[in-house]
Amino acid sequence: MKFTPEKPALFGETLDSLTAHLRELGEPAFRAKQILDWVYKKRARTWDAMTNLPKPLRTKLEATFDLTPATLVLSKESNDVTDKLLLELRDGSLIESVIIRAPQDNVGEEHSRKTICISTQVGCAMGCVFCASGLAGLKRDMSAGEIVSQLLQVCYREDATTPRARPELASFDNIVVMGMGEPLANYDALIRALTILNAEWGLGFGARRITVSTSGLVPKILKLAEEPIGFRLAVSLHGSTNEVREKIMPVNKAYPLEKLIPAVREFSEKHGRMVTLEFILIEDVNDSVEQAGELRDIARDLHAHVNIIPYNTVEGLPWKRPSVHVQEGFADVLRAARVPVTLRREKGHDIAAACGQLRLKTEKDRELAQA
Ligand code: SAH
Ligand code: SF4
Repeated sequence: MKFTPEKPALFGETLDSLTAHLRELGEPAFRAKQILDWVYKKRARTWDAMTNLPKPLRTKLEATFDLTPATLVLSKESNDVTDKLLLELRDGSLIESVIIRAPQDNVGEEHSRKTICISTQVGCAMGCVFCASGLAGLKRDMSAGEIVSQLLQVCYREDATTPRARPELASFDNIVVMGMGEPLANYDALIRALTILNAEWGLGFGARRITVSTSGLVPKILKLAEEPIGFRLAVSLHGSTNEVREKIMPVNKAYPLEKLIPAVREFSEKHGRMVTLEFILIEDVNDSVEQAGELRDIARDLHAHVNIIPYNTVEGLPWKRPSVHVQEGFADVLRAARVPVTLRREKGHDIAAACGQLRLKTEKDRELAQA
């Protein structure tokens, strides 16, 4: 299903498309750059703030474009590591963005690295059995403007809490497309949004600091490898044999490991960059030493980095995270082979991967309120 808002989002425009719109409005081309400077560099939040634009133009723009396609409805600072933002889109859909603060080794708190995790779809159609985002299926794709808008909402919020000498700098270090939805299933909007985030006339955020996570849509991984901008890739593996993977990820039927692994290899060879393999550990499902051994072999073959994420329990789902002892034992199998591995050690159960759960809860509360 597709939602067609009355006005296109300004944040979904590229320099070229905005220039073309302005021509149609009978305006000179240089206005496009001025407008983009206002929103991305000076963080203007209203048309009236764009004081070097003539008033009649501001009125015209207001009638033509939507300046706030996503509004913040709830912000939850759950602990010192994660903040979750719940945003509402024009049609009432809810999406989540998460800010994760990871202290940098030996540098101290104030130099903690900030990663922002964004969504690309409302819900998800992939049906991974452990995931909160996919529980109710896919509601709709997000537009490029809606995807970019999440980042701006985070910038506004971070600018307010930590004022910057130069507001045009992004207020975070990394962008991970690991929120709700399968980004490669909304390919065109994803690439348009990431292009806007990366462009010098946009947010100016380096492609090496942008990671796209996928459940493994092979043709789209190959397509991403051909893009001129070199974004990073993370692949949600979660099972190192077809037998285990297909039990928890239906996508494995269409794209089993013998198709997925060569595609990942092709991506990493084209880009000359290390790919990340994500592996959530679920008790008695994929946490055996045998699975660790197979994962080690795959990672070694792909020269990949492995991110082990202890599973976050989801209300209503039966899956559990294994004990720390099992987690460490699993990671040790990879460490012993010198495979680069990170075992996430965030406090509590509410790390970024729990994305989707706040929305689920709020939607449930809304339904209850309407009943
Ligand atoms: N659809 C994409 C990106 C969004 S999901 C993908 O699947 O890669 C981001 C990551 O969070 C994925 O690795 C996903 O498997 C993981 N994830 C989903 N639910 C989780 C949970 N309850 N606990 C831990 N990780 C989870
Ligand atoms: Fe979708 Fe990713 Fe969740 Fe799977 S893990 S249902 S692909 S969001």
